[in-house]
Amino acid sequence: MYDPKSMHADDFIDDNEVRETLLYAEENKNNLELINSILEKARPQKTSDGWHCSGLTHREASILLACDDPEITEKLYKVAEEIKLAFYGNRIVIFAPLYLSNYCINGCLYCPYHAENKHIARKKLTQEEIKAEVIALQDMGHKRLAIEAGEDPDNNPIEYILDSIKTIYGVHHKNGDIRRVNVNIAATTVENYKKLADAGIGTYILFQETYNKKGYEELHPYGPKHDYAYHTEAMDRAMEGGIDDVGLGVLFGLEGYKYEFAALLMHAEHLEAVHGVGPHTISVPRVKHADDIDPDVFDNSISDETFTKIAACIRIAVPYTGMIISTRENEQVRARMLQVGISQISGASRTSVGGYTTEERLHETEQFDVSDQRTLDEVVRWLMESGHIPSFCTACYRAGRTGDRFMELCKAGQIQNCCHPNALLTLKEYLTDYASEETKKAGEAMIEKELMNIPKENVREACKKYLDRIIDGERDFRF
Ligand code: SAM
Repeated sequence: MYDPKSMHADDFIDDNEVRETLLYAEENKNNLELINSILEKARPQKTSDGWHCSGLTHREASILLACDDPEITEKLYKVAEEIKLAFYGNRIVIFAPLYLSNYCINGCLYCPYHAENKHIARKKLTQEEIKAEVIALQDMGHKRLAIEAGEDPDNNPIEYILDSIKTIYGVHHKNGDIRRVNVNIAATTVENYKKLADAGIGTYILFQETYNKKGYEELHPYGPKHDYAYHTEAMDRAMEGGIDDVGLGVLFGLEGYKYEFAALLMHAEHLEAVHGVGPHTISVPRVKHADDIDPDVFDNSISDETFTKIAACIRIAVPYTGMIISTRENEQVRARMLQVGISQISGASRTSVGGYTTEERLHETEQFDVSDQRTLDEVVRWLMESGHIPSFCTACYRAGRTGDRFMELCKAGQIQNCCHPNALLTLKEYLTDYASEETKKAGEAMIEKELMNIPKENVREACKKYLDRIIDGERDFRF
């Protein structure tokens, strides 16, 4: 029975409730009066202490997703953009994945790291190799990483992950440092999550892949990941272990997107109901071609238009949750997704183990094809050309603004006095230390203009002083 407060996956992702939601959405998808009232409810409201947004239930949001009236879709995109601008402004946070090891004992049918893939080269970085990768990432200008590893208790035990995090935080090359390490490793125990929390990780990210239990079990035929409940309940264990920020995601293309969408929101509602705070981020990956993986064998692939609509509906339903898109998507798709709510993107990613220290792309250890192959400098400039501020900010969790404390800041609309100046300061660091002349020119103009959008005068003045000190060689200022 559906119960968002239950700690059992089968209750908070109750299959009946998902199916009833889809029926309800189908029945109401032409009910324009209801749809317009849902859109009105979703719009951000300005109050004396900032912007407020109510968000939507999984049932309400599913109606929006089911409706295929083009006028409603346009309205939907507008509301998504309004919400994004109200809470996140025009900042886009940048990160890169760092693949530590592709050893894996699972049998995921969509992933080339599956244990039966005998011709893929298996590789696990040594701590020395991690240092070299981190230096290469720092030399590009990255400050925030997401570490990735296959599941293999012998080759990639938690101690290896913890050592790697320590190594990453310990590398300070020239003016570079990695200030936030997010972690995307397989579901684990409360004890291990405690160790990750103590190691100072940012967000713990775990994609559900699919919420459809039957499909999930078929797609993960063997290995620890086969256990649907253990995987689906991982975020509860992570939070119990003291990790405040968790990141959800569905691998779109595996199962029906409407089912995934409703269940993803139910998962978010569950986290909010039980832990008082929803997911910090939601990622929207789509299945890609990879070594022995042909995405066409999964018959649920979605068009770019549907993909954009899903992102807009997520933006509207959970307005305080950051949204991530990776380099799995090409420039055009990423540009469109930025308009409807994405707040974080990866740049210049290599999805191979050791990929940042080699000139050529290492196809033989790659997890999936990267569509956006631009350099970080190109991505940064492109963002600015489309009116976005590239942000390398990592301040929140380092200042203790995680979980509900981050949400409070977001809900009180204070992000403009905090994240906005931090974005400008970290952009200035990037321009000073790593950018090409062309990017520097565009960036300086952007900083000049965007300083005026810091609402509080004292914050604006302090920000100007910090910017001057960055020119003088100081680093890591934050509000
Ligand atoms: N091993 C960890 C786990 O079990 O969750 C996570 C790390 S894995 C390196 C990161 C994610 O890549 C997976 O959760 C999956 O969603 C995604 N992925 C795997 N194969 C993919 C493919 N062919 N195309 C796109 N994304 C893929």
